[in-house]
Amino acid sequence: MRSILQRDNPILRQIADPVMPDQISSKEIKSIIADMKKLADAEEDAVAIAAPQIGESIRIFVVTERVREILKSPDIPLVYINPIITKASKDKKAMEEGCLSVRWLYGKVKRASRVTVEAFDENGNKFTRGASGLLAQIFQHEIDHLNGVLFIDNAKDVRDLPPNKEQHEQ
Ligand code: ZN
Repeated sequence: MRSILQRDNPILRQIADPVMPDQISSKEIKSIIADMKKLADAEEDAVAIAAPQIGESIRIFVVTERVREILKSPDIPLVYINPIITKASKDKKAMEEGCLSVRWLYGKVKRASRVTVEAFDENGNKFTRGASGLLAQIFQHEIDHLNGVLFIDNAKDVRDLPPNKEQHEQ
């Protein structure tokens, strides 16, 4: 069983590799996605997780079911393979952030208010999803992970806070 890496692990600083199209439905990728879901679901505050956070330097992130509930949007895709941001608003907002790999720090990060992401699902089908607010923040935080970036690299007002159900972890 894999586990969630913490911030000193060098895998978190690598540029993750794209998943080859013929590998998307492979057993290996399926098992990585299943472990990502399992590990994120085990953290009661998790909203998303990226593959490098469980030690796999490949371009995948997963959004948890919790986000569908929080945003009351049951149609939010959960698996994003080789995601790219195709559009981002110039308008930015400082948003409160935490990270499953940076326990227990929180800080404010400036994020584009709206983004559009293009990605493949676990069946290899390409899709496009626009997002604002929390979901836009998640997309940007997770794609940063795929590029070796942690939120504390750009955060202001960083504080060490004990576990709290009000916070969202990515
Ligand atoms: Zn994170």
